[in-house]
Amino acid sequence: MFQLLDGKALSTQIKEEIATEVRHLMAEGHRTPHLAAVIVGNDGASQTYVANKEKSSHEVGYTSSVYRYPECTTEKELLESIHFLNNDPEIDGFIVQLPLPKHINEQHVIDAISPDKDVDGFTAINVGRMVLGEEAFVPATPMGICTLLKRYGIETAGKHCVVIGRSNIVGTPVANLLSRKGYDCTVTLCHSRTQNLAEITRTADILVVAIGKPEFVTADMVKPGAVVIDVGIHRIPDESRKSGYRIIGDVKHSEVDNLCSWVTPVPGGVGPLTIISLLENTMKAYKRNLNLK
Ligand code: NAD
Repeated sequence: MFQLLDGKALSTQIKEEIATEVRHLMAEGHRTPHLAAVIVGNDGASQTYVANKEKSSHEVGYTSSVYRYPECTTEKELLESIHFLNNDPEIDGFIVQLPLPKHINEQHVIDAISPDKDVDGFTAINVGRMVLGEEAFVPATPMGICTLLKRYGIETAGKHCVVIGRSNIVGTPVANLLSRKGYDCTVTLCHSRTQNLAEITRTADILVVAIGKPEFVTADMVKPGAVVIDVGIHRIPDESRKSGYRIIGDVKHSEVDNLCSWVTPVPGGVGPLTIISLLENTMKAYKRNLNLK
């Protein structure tokens, strides 16, 4: 019988821990941590992500501000906004919600973010520091996956971890983190050119799936007893729901879950921990900004 890596429950618990810390900081006379978000255009999923980040910030007692710009904003205007946020001492960290409209070069925008405020961990400086094992802001989703494994006491040392997907925001950094001291997995990173994928994934003690294809991972790809982390998020039409859609992952849970020892549900697995990581990174940025321990 499989057990759930319940990201929703864990995120509630960690939010309470952060809220307690914020209350202590307030009692000592400090200002609240401040997380800002920049969003350009009207992409529905991005609006939802930013609204969730704002809601979670308020829940733990942070100040949160959202800078909304219309679709027609130029790269130059957006860079000016980034410059303003970099220099505002009251803002501890900020994120730029991706994707950006096609006429804006995302890399130019990411490169403009001060590494000290880059709580998404996307700048070259933070990626470099992470790979070198130095103090860094680690990207939120990989950090959330690590938190889930750690808090649920999943043994990682010496385990074979197979990651499917090599994106800069999930697959590549999670493969790096899990191979490092402290996690000590033996990691295999698979991608769109990998041959005999199922043969490799069947050898995984821990399978991290970040491929972006609905229900791609099926029972024949999973070793009995494996820990399966499903990062995928897809909205599919569902007339039976009030919202008109439901959320599914990259794993076909109806057939895979029974094979697993532990598995993340979708929704309610990795997603809530991604937001927690952002809050944790903001706390770190805040303490650095105010020279607090
Ligand atoms: P991406 O599209 O940038 O990367 C997908 C990766 O999968 C690529 O590296 C590609 O090489 C690999 N891939 C594609 N087809 C493959 C195949 N047939 N076999 C093996 N590998 C293949 O995606 P991403 O940004 O890493 O996101 C992955 C999924 O995770 C998406 O569904 C996304 O919505 C979701 N996501 C969730 C969270 C969260 O908080 N839960 C955060 C970020 C992304």
